Amino acid sequence: MNNLSSCFSENYAEARPKFCAAVAEAGGALRSWLNAYGRGPAGDALYLDTARFGRADAPNMLVLISATHGVEGHCGSGAQIAWLRGGGPARLPADTGCLIVHAINPHGFAWTRRVNEDNVDLNRNFVDHDKPYPASRGYAELADAVLPQDWTDASWGAMQATFAAYAQKHGAFGLQGALSGGQYSHPDGIFFGGARPTWSNRTIRAIARQELSHARRVGVIDYHTGLGPFGHGELICTVPPGAKSFARANAWYGKELTSPESGTSTSAIVVGCMTDCIPQELPDAEVTSVAIEYGTYPVPEVMKAVLQDNWLHRRGRIDSTQGREMKAFMKERFFPAGDKWREMVVARSEQTIGWALQGLAAG
Ligand SMILES: [Zn+2]
Repeated sequence: MNNLSSCFSENYAEARPKFCAAVAEAGGALRSWLNAYGRGPAGDALYLDTARFGRADAPNMLVLISATHGVEGHCGSGAQIAWLRGGGPARLPADTGCLIVHAINPHGFAWTRRVNEDNVDLNRNFVDHDKPYPASRGYAELADAVLPQDWTDASWGAMQATFAAYAQKHGAFGLQGALSGGQYSHPDGIFFGGARPTWSNRTIRAIARQELSHARRVGVIDYHTGLGPFGHGELICTVPPGAKSFARANAWYGKELTSPESGTSTSAIVVGCMTDCIPQELPDAEVTSVAIEYGTYPVPEVMKAVLQDNWLHRRGRIDSTQGREMKAFMKERFFPAGDKWREMVVARSEQTIGWALQGLAAG
């Protein structure tokens, strides 16, 4: 294993102490938030940890967030630790601080799941829960197929036939949107947005108010995996193209920036993104957010992993041969083994952080 690869971890239990050690080594201030709503596979306590660098009143703040989609935290944690070990904090300009949020969804990270302890997709949970939920664009038609009674070759074949018929009518991207755009009607389904703000939702809002309220400019990078070409980090802007923060993101990232609403992204249009909460909690700051989405495997394989994992936690047995195989499949789909993918992750992460720092400096 090379040096960069060693920044990444095989599980949450390995990632957390590695992150805390890298923060201490780099001279950062660490805070830990206990998630009291669940435990890890070995009964271990689950924490979101934050690390802070720079002046307490720094007007510019860089924010790096990992594990919004639990299992994708293998990637985000590794990129964060690589930046720490690579001397990133020491190179920050005097007027710029950094806040690293490690494992915003520690339960999903620990259990090799995208979702949290409530089967909620955090990136669909940041809607206004006091208002009617957005319509689910076709999910209801697919909900029964999504969760079969048993997981066998026959049930998988039937599920694929249902999806293929839907894609015939609405196109492959239409199918992806119906499955992954977010839904609020089926708590036992996939890409469920929840019925209330989750623990991670409430906690990141508290962190934003406590750690970022002094900041005038905030640049957020949220790490994801599972869509796009292997190892490529697509920079996705999830705010509408008409928004002021979109124009800023465009100025920072240029033609590298993609937009689901403009049809230039591999991602379906989603509602209730986690990063939406930062400008909500910091109304006086200029917040510029981007999701970095690293490709792994083709969409049908990634979707199969998600469907299997949802079935496993509802109707299967995690501690069976089938369960262990499904977990291994899931992990590989969101965190490919080997040095190459990890090197690509770190290179693109460092590049993106550099662009964000230039953007913050330009004001
Ligand atoms: Zn993701």
